[in-house]
Amino acid sequence: MKIAMLARNPNLYSHKRLKEAAEARGHELDIINTLRCYMNIASRRPEIYYNGEKLTGYDAVIPRIGASVTYYGLAVLRQFEMMGVYPLNESVAIGRSRDKLRSMQLLARDGIGLPVTTFAHDPKQTDEVIKLAGGAPLVIKLLEGTQGIGVVLADTDRSATSVVEAFRGAGVNILVQEFIKEAGGTDIRAIVVGGKVIAAMKRTGAEGEFRSNLHRGGSAQLIRISPEERSTAIRAAKAMGLAVCGVDMLRSNHGPVVMEVNSSPGLEGVEKATGLDIAGKIIEHIERNARPGATRTKGKG
Ligand code: ADP
Ligand code: MG
Repeated sequence: MKIAMLARNPNLYSHKRLKEAAEARGHELDIINTLRCYMNIASRRPEIYYNGEKLTGYDAVIPRIGASVTYYGLAVLRQFEMMGVYPLNESVAIGRSRDKLRSMQLLARDGIGLPVTTFAHDPKQTDEVIKLAGGAPLVIKLLEGTQGIGVVLADTDRSATSVVEAFRGAGVNILVQEFIKEAGGTDIRAIVVGGKVIAAMKRTGAEGEFRSNLHRGGSAQLIRISPEERSTAIRAAKAMGLAVCGVDMLRSNHGPVVMEVNSSPGLEGVEKATGLDIAGKIIEHIERNARPGATRTKGKG
């Protein structure tokens, strides 16, 4: 197969591993800098150009679109979809997962366990929202944050109010969430590929840190997850419509609760913690599923 990978940095561990895994299995994989693609949105003749050449002949596209380039990256991915190229994850599904509020709504609709989560646009409703979330301690997060940046723990209602007002004053959207204290600064990331959990790791935050993101100094370990955690991860991936994702869950007193679903999970932490060849599993999934024109949504909806 000829595979395109939309990514900006070819030297990232995950990108190198996916290229290696594709080549080891006899495929060709080109890393394409998303931002350098340009498109011709011609009627019924969608085209993408790169370095002065028209991109043709691809069987599949692996989107590894960074959070800061979501808008343009998804436009390029949609263009591939309209050309009939099989996307590992569809543009619409990635779009859903990039918005924490939208993701929470979709997960809630499917009855998946979630921390109590509230949202308000109007700062006048701050007190009500804090009450609705159950009062302090509360976690306040930016709707489009990533790598733990923009996730704040407020210990008292007063500090929660100040944080909400500060964020709202800066014009950014946030959600206010019940703090799952019993998780003890540890979360679980389950990697779902094609409707199965193929790996799971436990991430523990650095000393004194409630955020377990590896980018914030957290450490990763292999973990055995419960059948309930497994089915929660699978259902979350399905609710988002993502073929490949990392589902982040917390162990709460009322069972597993999903915090977010990541459409481009990093491979380094999880491959090193589990010793598994996740990149190889992803390429295998493409081999099994890539069919021309098989995109479900073709960028619609
Ligand atoms: P990001 O997209 O920035 O990774 P997350 O929502 O995943 O944001 O939160 C980052 C980390 O903060 C999580 O991995 C988890 O360790 C911690 N965390 C987030 N929400 C909660 C919560 N409601 N209760 C306890 N810990 C949380
Ligand atoms: Mg996270």
